[in-house]
Amino acid sequence: MKQLKDFKDNIHSCSKCGLCQSVCPIYKITGNDCTVSRGHFVMLRGLLKGELKMSPKLNRYLDLCLKCGACSKFCPSDINVVDIIVAAKAEYFKHSFSQKLLSFFQKNFVFGLCVNFLSLFRKKAESKTFDKKVLYFGGCSSKIKGNNAVVKILNAAGIEVITPPFSCCGISLFARGDLRGFNHNIEKFVKILKQYNITDIVTTCASCEKSLKDYSRWAESDDSREFLKNIKIKNIYEYIRANELKLVLRKPVEVTFHKPCNIDNYDDIKWFLSNTTNLNYIEMNDFDKCCGLNGISKFREYRIMAEIFKSKRENILKTGVKYVLTSCLGCEVALKLFSRNSYRVDDLINFIASRI
Ligand code: SF4
Ligand code: SF4
Repeated sequence: MKQLKDFKDNIHSCSKCGLCQSVCPIYKITGNDCTVSRGHFVMLRGLLKGELKMSPKLNRYLDLCLKCGACSKFCPSDINVVDIIVAAKAEYFKHSFSQKLLSFFQKNFVFGLCVNFLSLFRKKAESKTFDKKVLYFGGCSSKIKGNNAVVKILNAAGIEVITPPFSCCGISLFARGDLRGFNHNIEKFVKILKQYNITDIVTTCASCEKSLKDYSRWAESDDSREFLKNIKIKNIYEYIRANELKLVLRKPVEVTFHKPCNIDNYDDIKWFLSNTTNLNYIEMNDFDKCCGLNGISKFREYRIMAEIFKSKRENILKTGVKYVLTSCLGCEVALKLFSRNSYRVDDLINFIASRI
């Protein structure tokens, strides 16, 4: 399993230029260097040298990171900040009973029992048959909402959708530093995937997409790492644009869109939003700024998270639209939580599929 010491060179490659400070949503509020990549790396260097010890205080600084990856996009040293924060959190996780308890609860109750119970009320849609076939990784979202929308839209693009019984991608375990739990999810994924002779996987949730793309770097087993290197993971918007799928909504409607941090192909989404007839897309200010979901569970940091939620909400309200669409189950939850019934939130694919 990867450990913090494996990232020593990356941590040392930080030049302390401070560019990460200009984009980090947390630093913008706290102004405290301990809450942004540059400061995190100073602390982690101390930890690796044995000058500092992992402590609840250090973990609290690491925990404030939303894992939005905004700093990595600007970092001249090209450091994958999220991987390092997770490896550091894994050091804390190993010795923390409360973190293990929370992880157990998330794994077995929230993403296990609750999601599986909700899936009992969803009937799986059957796909039409086409030469081009993809496997749909719907994660928890498809268990709760079903796979109808994805089947309807990809079938319209001439693509057959196969929906294997994949389980949760494990992103919450990864973010907490529960790497053993995360690896358990990776192995389950590999085992199911080996039953199909298809290498194209389609996702609709940005968090699932990020997790699946991380699998080949974080899998413990050499076999799984090799196997995963040949798997192509794309989100549905790449297929929609590549097939020039232009849909017509029954009635005109105005919408805005929140871009999840883990989506890299906003161009494809914008193409889809702009080429769907009767859909009037109004881009909100800072449409690509983190919704703050990773902060929801940080009740101690409520003041900081409230600031992030407030500015996202204000930007949504400025557009004057009734519908905010997104493409991540986590973002949906965060946007709904602070909507105060001023707007409705939906997944873009579900929204479009229910109106054509
Ligand atoms: S932008 Fe990158 S190199 Fe510069 S201080 Fe931040 S983490 Fe270090
Ligand atoms: S990942 Fe996001 S929240 Fe974390 S340090 Fe980088 S910019 Fe800040």
